[in-house]
Amino acid sequence: GHLPENIREKVHNHPCYSEEAHHYYARMHVAVAPACNIQCHYCNRKYDCANESRPGVVSELLTPDQAIKKTLAVAATIPQMTVLGIAGPGDPLANPEKTFATFRALSEQAPDIKLCVSTNGLALPESVDELAKHNIDHVTITINCVDPEIGAKIYPWIFWKNRRIKGIKGAEILIEQQQKGLEMLTARGILVKVNSVMIPGVNDKHLAEVSKVVKAKGAFLHNVMPLIAEAEHGTFYGVMGQRGPEPSELKELQDQCEGDMNMMRHCRQCRADAVGLLGEDRGSEFSVDKIEEME
Ligand code: SF4
Ligand code: SF4
Repeated sequence: GHLPENIREKVHNHPCYSEEAHHYYARMHVAVAPACNIQCHYCNRKYDCANESRPGVVSELLTPDQAIKKTLAVAATIPQMTVLGIAGPGDPLANPEKTFATFRALSEQAPDIKLCVSTNGLALPESVDELAKHNIDHVTITINCVDPEIGAKIYPWIFWKNRRIKGIKGAEILIEQQQKGLEMLTARGILVKVNSVMIPGVNDKHLAEVSKVVKAKGAFLHNVMPLIAEAEHGTFYGVMGQRGPEPSELKELQDQCEGDMNMMRHCRQCRADAVGLLGEDRGSEFSVDKIEEME
């Protein structure tokens, strides 16, 4: 598929959107957001959020101040640095003070850096006004279903208005919030990418429908990521041994969705503290200790 001109203009130098750009432009993630407001069956809270990262990785948690220093230090060292994302280790919008303190300072001190954020979407509608105030290039929403019955198999509970809500009811609220957030963002001209985790036997047959729905609401890119099932990652839906998709199954689904929407196939599921060009990680050069030393 081809991107409309106005969107192509915005994303031509974005490492995550174009396979070509990712050789020339660098991005980084800062992990400032520890809390989460839902439970995904595929999540192990010891590790980074799977909204955007590969499971089984523990990122260095930073305070907003440390994240700001780190970003400025990276931008001074890596000239191709164009995009700063907040992707975890929990849900960025479930940590609004930390996430927005970081965005606020960076929009002032480094206005050339594009900002992005990924979220499960539960707190998205209430965050749209604040997001619109910053230099937000795009928001990634992880949408694994549009059907609450399937959702109940993926999300055992959500935390909503100070209560834990389980099962289909919880999934229904999450889906509503995701869809509402998506509509509110696209209505304001903020780009929305949708991530989906492909879980064989749970939502694999349903994701083509998800692709149609989110495209109709204005999402510009769909990124189907494989569930990465690892023994140490624990159980899924109380079942040990939930498998991830085979590469051929993933490709088949991506091909199937392609007719409806621009598909992203080169996402690396970078860690929540990744630094550098895609496929490289220079995070260890910019650890908190080293950043503090640089001053
Ligand atoms: Fe874990 Fe992310 Fe799901 Fe929260 S949204 S439960 S951090 S995978
Ligand atoms: Fe880009 Fe995917 Fe890495 Fe995010 S996780 S920075 S979208 S390649």
